[in-house]
Amino acid sequence: MKNQSIITFLGPPGSGKGTQAILLSEKFDLYHFETSKIIEQSVREAKKGEFISVKEKKYYFENEWKIWKKGILCSPPFVSFLIREKIKKLAKEGKGIVFSGSPRTLYEVKEIAPLVKKLYGHKNIKVFQILLSPEATIFRNSHRRICELMRHPILWNKETENLKHCPLDGSKLVRRKGLDNPEVIKTRLKEFAERTLPLIDFYKDHKFTIKKFKGEQSVEGLFKDILKVMK
Ligand SMILES: [Zn+2]
Repeated sequence: MKNQSIITFLGPPGSGKGTQAILLSEKFDLYHFETSKIIEQSVREAKKGEFISVKEKKYYFENEWKIWKKGILCSPPFVSFLIREKIKKLAKEGKGIVFSGSPRTLYEVKEIAPLVKKLYGHKNIKVFQILLSPEATIFRNSHRRICELMRHPILWNKETENLKHCPLDGSKLVRRKGLDNPEVIKTRLKEFAERTLPLIDFYKDHKFTIKKFKGEQSVEGLFKDILKVMK
């Protein structure tokens, strides 16, 4: 029997969502759903001038990519479309999912939550909120690196400070271009507070279970806390 869990992380940039999602996906054989990767991939594969049409409005891949690079969230109808397509594919394969950064807006959650509920059932959906102070968020983001090959996120701490290569695949560690510079980080934080945090009320109103975790601890400590509620 395949694991049919749906886990969705909610937390500011740098709270460790990506790292925890990787750990969970490996331990429980879940698909790690990275919206940024799906956006990037779709943009890269798009032909010049290609667009998605939602409710008679056109969303051009090139424009969406420009917005994304500034730290502003992509147009919700555009993102929702890509996410819904991918979820349907995964459900067909019977695969459980861990979302590390989706949904990010009320529009998205309204589009995505009912679909996931229909495909996987309400009781299989869990929302994990990671709490992190704005100071810690800024510090972590300005020190974050990713690996070249798989884009594994490497959070800054004593153990990783001097690391040059990815512990998982040995590829070189690099700074993310654009997304992690101070101005862009500030924009991303503001976007999170104004557009993503209100999702908590949506989840509460729709009777989804929200588990809260302390983000200001080690990767292992946080993972242990998460495992406790996975039973
Ligand atoms: Zn890696």
